[in-house]
This record gives sequence, C-alpha cells and structure tokens, in this order.
Amino acid sequence: MTTAPIDLSAAFTEALRRELALAGAPATSASAAGADVQASVDPAAARRALMRAAAQACREPLGLRWAETQAADAARGADAEVRRVHYLSMEFLMGRALGNALAALKLDDTLRVAFDAQGQALPDVLERENDAALGNGGLGRLAACFLDSFAELGLPSFGYGLRYQYGMFAQGIQDGRQVEVPDDWMALGNPWETARPELRYAVGFGGHVEVGADGARRWVPAERLIAQAYDFIVPAHHSQRVSTLRQWHARAEAPIDFAAFCRGDHHGAAAHRVAADAINWVLYPDDSTESGRVLRLKQEAFLVSASLQDLIARHLREGRALADLGRDNAIHLNDTHPALAPAELMRLLLDEHGLGWDAAWAITRQAVSYTNHTLMPEALETWPVRLFEQLLPRHLEVVYEINHRFLEEVKARFPGDDALLRRVSLIDEGGEHGLGERRVRMAALSIVASHRVNGVAALHSELMVQTIFADYARIFPDRFHNVTNGVTPRRWLQQANPGLSSLLDERIGAGWRQDLGELSRLRPLAGDVALGERLRAVKRENKQRLAARIQRDLGLTVNVDSLFDVQIKRIHEYKRQLLNVLHVIARYQAIVANPRADWVPRTVVIAGKAASAYVAAKSVIQLAHDVGCVINSDPRVGDKLKLAFLPNYGVSLAEVIIPAADLSEQISTAGTEASGTGNMKFALNGALTIGTWDGANIEMAQAFGEDNMFSFGLKTDEVEALKRQGYDARAAVAGNARLRAVVEAIARGDFSQGDAGRYRALVDKLLGDDVYLLTADFDDYLRAQERVDALFRDPRAWAERVVLNIAGMGMFSSDRTIAEYVDRVWSAKSLG
Ligand SMILES: *Cc1c(COP(=O)(O)O)cnc(C)c1O
Repeated sequence: MTTAPIDLSAAFTEALRRELALAGAPATSASAAGADVQASVDPAAARRALMRAAAQACREPLGLRWAETQAADAARGADAEVRRVHYLSMEFLMGRALGNALAALKLDDTLRVAFDAQGQALPDVLERENDAALGNGGLGRLAACFLDSFAELGLPSFGYGLRYQYGMFAQGIQDGRQVEVPDDWMALGNPWETARPELRYAVGFGGHVEVGADGARRWVPAERLIAQAYDFIVPAHHSQRVSTLRQWHARAEAPIDFAAFCRGDHHGAAAHRVAADAINWVLYPDDSTESGRVLRLKQEAFLVSASLQDLIARHLREGRALADLGRDNAIHLNDTHPALAPAELMRLLLDEHGLGWDAAWAITRQAVSYTNHTLMPEALETWPVRLFEQLLPRHLEVVYEINHRFLEEVKARFPGDDALLRRVSLIDEGGEHGLGERRVRMAALSIVASHRVNGVAALHSELMVQTIFADYARIFPDRFHNVTNGVTPRRWLQQANPGLSSLLDERIGAGWRQDLGELSRLRPLAGDVALGERLRAVKRENKQRLAARIQRDLGLTVNVDSLFDVQIKRIHEYKRQLLNVLHVIARYQAIVANPRADWVPRTVVIAGKAASAYVAAKSVIQLAHDVGCVINSDPRVGDKLKLAFLPNYGVSLAEVIIPAADLSEQISTAGTEASGTGNMKFALNGALTIGTWDGANIEMAQAFGEDNMFSFGLKTDEVEALKRQGYDARAAVAGNARLRAVVEAIARGDFSQGDAGRYRALVDKLLGDDVYLLTADFDDYLRAQERVDALFRDPRAWAERVVLNIAGMGMFSSDRTIAEYVDRVWSAKSLG
C-alpha cells in the first residue's frame, strides 16, 4: 500500500461550506467566511459544523483504506497462519472518533490550523461529537481497544455488534439521585457510519421445526426480521490498515399492512415495525419483565445470526471451501452474550449447507473461542428452556444434541459420577428436585463448543479453573488459559494526555505509541529531578483542565494543588465505592476534630453509573453526593477535603479525568475484579494506585515493583478463610472506634439532608451482611491512605514512583493482548 500524503483541505472546505449553510450561516464560501461566521452562527453550531465537516473529510481516505484492507485480506493465502477474526460482542464502548481519526490520518495539525482560522480551538470542536456509548463498562471498552489494536497489528478482522439507537442510558443527577434518560447520541446523525444496504440477512424467531422425508430438519420461523449492516471504520496509526466494526440494524421484513392502513388503523398497519425496531433501542432492556427478557434474547440471537451469515457468505465469496471455514475463520465470544454462536453456526452448517453433524461440529470447535469476564456465579448467563423453545426451537434441538454427545463422553470418562453430569450439563435441570425452571447454561455451551477459553488476568484465570469452571477444567485440561487485558496507548495516552505524550517523546522517543514496552526506557530516569518537575507540570495542567470541568458541571471550586484521588467505574458493591466514601467521612471527622493539623489537601473524584434496577448501588451514588454537600460547604474544612461526584461517566469524561489523577482507587474485594482496565489507564498516565491484591492490580505491581503500589487489604485466600469461619461485621464495627464513628454518622442522618431514614437500608446491609468485607478492610485501607499522604508531602519521592509506575506499564497495551490472542487462540497453529 502507498503512503501518499493526503490533501483534505478541498474536501474539508467543501464540507464546511455545506455544514455552515445548514447551520444557518449566510451563503458565503467557507474559506472567505472567516470571522463573519462567528457573527452569524451561534458558537456551538459553528463548532458542530466544523466537527461534522472534518468527519466528512476523513471519510474518503478512510473508505479507501477500508477497500484496500479488505482486498489484501481476501487475497491472503489459503494456508495463512492468521485466520480472519470475528469478534462478537454485545458492547463496543467506542467514545468519540474524530480525534482518533485525525491523529491516525496525521491531519490533526492541519485541522487545528483550519479551526483556528474559524476562531475555534480543536478541543472545543472535538467536544461537539457525541460519545458512541454502546457499552456498559470494561467489557465494552475492551472490545473498542481491541478494534484499535486489530488495525494497528494488521489483523484480518471484523468486530460485530448491534447498532443501538440509545446505547447505555445517560446519567443525570437530581437531588443527588441518579436519573436515567435515553442517550439519543445519533439525534443529529452519525457522520462516521456507512450504511451497507446491500448487506442484508434474514433472521428468524419462533415457529416450529419440520422434518423432511429424508429426515432432514428444517426450521420454519414464525417471524423474520432483516439485519442490515452499518460499518464503522477504525484506522491504524502506523499503517494504512483499518479495522471494521459492523453493526446490525433490525428492520421489519414486511412493508406496512396496507389493508389496515386503508381502514384507518395506522397503528395496526405498522405494529410489526415497532416490534422490529425495539431490537435497536437499548443495550440492556430491563430484564425484570418477561418482555424485557425476550427482547434481550432476541438481540443476542439477532447479532449472532446476522454475523455468522455474513461470515459464511464472505468465506464462500472468496472462493474458499466450506470445509475450511473453521481453519480460515476465528469466531470469538466476548463473554457469553454471543454464546448462541455455536448453536447458530451448527444450524447454518447442518440445515442450510447440508453438512453432517461431525463435519459441522469439527468446524465449529475450530472456529469458536470464548473469554470469561466474571467469577460471580450469579452473573453467569442462563436462559429458561421455555423461552428458548418459544423463540429458537431449532437452536434448542442443537443444544440438546451437543449436550447429549458431551454427556456421553463425560460418562465414558468418569463412569458413575452422576453428580458431575448434573453439574456440567448444558441444561440446569432446576435444582436437586427439579422444582425450579429448566435453564440453558450459556457459559457451559461456550466452553464445550470452544477450542480455547480464557480469563482476563492471571489471578482471574487461576480462580476460574479452581472455582466456577473447575469441573470443565478437569474434563478439558488443555482448553483453559490466560490472556491479561490491555488498553490502547493511542487513545489512553497519546490522545488523552498530549502533555505527557510530548514529554515522553522528548525523553524516550515516540516508539511507545507503537511498542509500549519502550516505556521501560524511563526506568533509569526515575531519579532525574528535572524529569520529575516536568511531570509535575504536565499533571498540574491536566488537573487544571479537570478542575475547570468540575467547576462547570458542579459549580465547585477545587484546589489544583491538592491530591486528586479518583475512583471512576461502574458503581457496584464489589468495586466498593462505599469503602472510598467511608474513608472520606473518616477524614472529614478527623479534620473537624483537628482542623489545625497539617493536612494534605485532597480532592476526591467519583464517577460511575449504576444499573437502573440496582438499588444498593444507587444508594451509594446518593450518599457520595450527600457527603459531598456536607463536606464541600463546611467552612472548617476548606480545601483540605472536597468530594465531587461527576455525572454521566463515559469514555470522553474518562479521557479528561484520568490524566489529572494523582491517586487511582482500585479497591475491589480480592477475588472479585476479573482484571480491570481502568487501573491500567491511570498508571499509564502517572497516577499511583491504592489497590487490593486483585485482578490486574497484581500483575501491574509485579511489573513496576510491589513497593510502588499502595496495596492493602485481605488477599483472596484470606477473604475465603474469613467467610468460611463466618464474619461478623457488626462486631467488627463495634470494636473499631474510627469505623464506628463513621457508620454512626451515616446512621444518625448526618448526611441525610433531614430525611432520617435515607441510609437505613445501606447501614443495615453493611452491618448485617457485609458480603464484600468493607468493614474488614477498612483499617488497612486507612493505613494505606496515610502512606499516600506521607509520600505526597515529598514531591520528589512521589515523582520517582510515578516514573517507575509508567516505566513498568509496557505490557498493558492491548497490542500485546491481541498478539497473545493471535498466538494462542486465533492463529492456525493454535488449532494444534
Ligand atoms: C476503562 C473504562 C471502564 C473500565 O473501568 P474499570 O475501572 O476497569 O472497571 C469502564 N468504563 C469506561 C468508560 C472506561 O473507559
């Protein structure tokens, strides 16, 4: 491929003229418009016009790169080591695209100048783009980082997802409470996507299975929807390659019911369209209702069927043999949400392409691999057999047959172990006495149908085979392994932290952008005082940027020289934001008791969304807000302590917050956080970590030196032991004066704004059944916080740790993660 420089100025000028006209500017040419535009179009509209014009200017070169990438991949040899990867995920938390595209196309400087000429600053223009928040948290953001690395590593690949119109909800805070509102992120269109109306597949639901004269089974669905493709292109930064996120949009197959329409029944004429469209609405339909659960299962089946039909069509179009489908294509399941894939692939191969069971099963097993993302047994996905039968009758038959053959194999290898059969069966028979509903176990289906199953950090992968998947690990000892997560350095360092990026370029060269291992060249510079000072200056600028954001969003003034102590992630009890708030209250009480002491000033920043039905998590949000109200307005405290809860956490907010953090809170109960990737982004941006011995924290500490992390708390085996012996939180609190004072203040209503019972349930739960052992880790956590304060008083020593942290983060690039997936899961040689 050629690397001719691109001249986009003409395309950009054209697009800008059009956009400005749409925004209401007078009909002058954009190049001549200049400052006139400022006078005639409101500034937000002008920035949006610039943003859209820039995006449109990027489309053509990206489209060319897309075509060249596809041609190169199609031409790869039949014996290619690297198979084409199909990464199936219900979530892709992409964030904004323009900044990344401009950097990849090396257009950022050109457009900075062009925007300046229009009187607008580049960051302000970039901010006009809405986040594509088509994900919930780490799992979805991982998928987005992977797309970036797919492009960077030149991996033949497709990401497959759904085109959600509203994605995850937008979070508002009203009187301290989370309110969920639809995130209408495409309201003004999406300049990045390319509709592919020629790529359409029918996806069926319901109906029954017919048996032909030859015994062949054929599914006759009661309902059919059309999946239409939309492509979203993700460019590499160091080559002309791009990767593709193909998102499916559901449409009704039938036109409007004309007879009903003519009768005046407009609603009835189009009711089926609303049902089809519901597939595209939101990421997580509320699954507390039957119709919500049906919708979610339909979404999963829809994603899987459209993607696999697309895969097979492409494979055949490239002139390859069906028998080679598994050799040439990897199908990866990002957790169990796409776990219907093996059942659907079997159905397509058996019923649509006429293969026999053994041939189809060999292909499926070669193609499919699965990543597990959580150890919590309650989070393992299962579906009632009844629902399956109603929506996917043929898939249920296939699942039964897979299960039958699998259990025969287990019976032969472990004769007489009926308990084992019950435990590993793909069907949960509804408990010992069959009283519950029979359910399909999606993780079991994924494991049995995959040639590789992996966890996402070393500890998690170990615990996975010791706990939830112990039986399967005994049956398939070679199937399980670990691939530790990573994050893309392009977005999470280069784009989010330009100040640090240039400083790194200056000190160790720019190679880290492509090979993050280069960061290790910082290690010998840890004691370099001048470097420490430069780092501090960069951090201070980033803190100013965040302080301005806090001022704008919350009207709260914070001291940029205070220690920025940050916890941003989904709000969940296991992540223990409440432990953080308990520390804040303890610190508040200590400051009030002794205001003259020499406190290290702190600004605590918390952000995150709680699932809409998760009452306990929402109560923690409200408490954080209420505690903030009390502390932030207490004149005895001043800037010694501030607590800011920033609403509507997402990728773009993370890009502002993370570079400004001094301290990263990674405080999950040991054994509960599978990996974490937020922890990696913070360390990469020069925050020190206060963390438990959990997930990827452990590997991070090992990489940059255990002394360079503030670790605290019970380890996994101690958590286990404490639970076995029976932990009494009430007694622990009673015996700990500092903790008791904190809990009593909450219970008494000190933070309840006059609504005395507001936190009764929260306190009762903490004292009654402290599942995540906050009260057990409290003291050690506060001791670790004291070590943080002590080090922060010594800016040189702090900076030295920061350098050592960054220097050790080389292995946490998603490029390394993807290279390992290729090596162990996706390459032809990994098939053995
Ligand atoms: C990185 C990231 C996450 C994952 O954070 P954890 O701290 O690992 O849970 C979630 N949401 C967004 C927007 C992210 O960027």
